[in-house]
Amino acid sequence: MTFPITRRGLMLVLSSPSGAGKTSICKRLLEQDAELTLSISATTRKRRPGEVEGQDYQFMSTAEFETKINRSEFLEYAQVFGNYYGTPSNLVEHSLKSGRDVLFDIDWQGTQQLKAKAREDLVSIFILPPSIKELEKRLFKRAQDSAEVVADRMSKSANEMSHYPEYDYVIINHDLKTSVQQIQSICLAERLRRERQIGLVDFIQQLRSQL
Ligand code: 5GP
Repeated sequence: MTFPITRRGLMLVLSSPSGAGKTSICKRLLEQDAELTLSISATTRKRRPGEVEGQDYQFMSTAEFETKINRSEFLEYAQVFGNYYGTPSNLVEHSLKSGRDVLFDIDWQGTQQLKAKAREDLVSIFILPPSIKELEKRLFKRAQDSAEVVADRMSKSANEMSHYPEYDYVIINHDLKTSVQQIQSICLAERLRRERQIGLVDFIQQLRSQL
């Protein structure tokens, strides 16, 4: 008789100052890891050119967002750069229950809320840019936000960065490929954590009973 060892899905949270390269990292991780599902946030921010409704975000009005807050439909939500951003609960719960890992691209405020709700399931990673020059370059390269928006985001980066000690891991994003590999290594190790392996107790009992 064998006992299947399955595992609980984990919540992989990535946060960074705007422009540290987190979106590209998320995209690459999702392409390369079939066990990972992206949590698609809701936001009241305007859609950027190229962004797809329901794929990048669920775009909605402030009134719609506030109705959802009142109905407790968010696992967490926060105001970032003057807009609401939030994680709808429904998809996340479904994925975790079926043993899938969920990737969250959220800020430090959202991470704190998830930590309070589900510490054991949470693995949090903070991504830093290699330099401020590089941060600015990446924000401008994106070229989808106005110079004013870029300047505002730059000025808020110092505050965002001050939250790095609240995270389990910190990665300096010198280059996309290396950062993705580092995050995959973290995932691999975290998936093997003893407490995430359901059925382990029975499996070991079975092994020991044969000795
Ligand atoms: P952007 O407008 O550049 O897409 O995102 C701005 C910031 O909002 C990023 O730091 C991103 O991680 C954060 N963000 C995106 N979705 C959520 C969410 O659902 N909750 C929280 N708390 N932050 C989010």
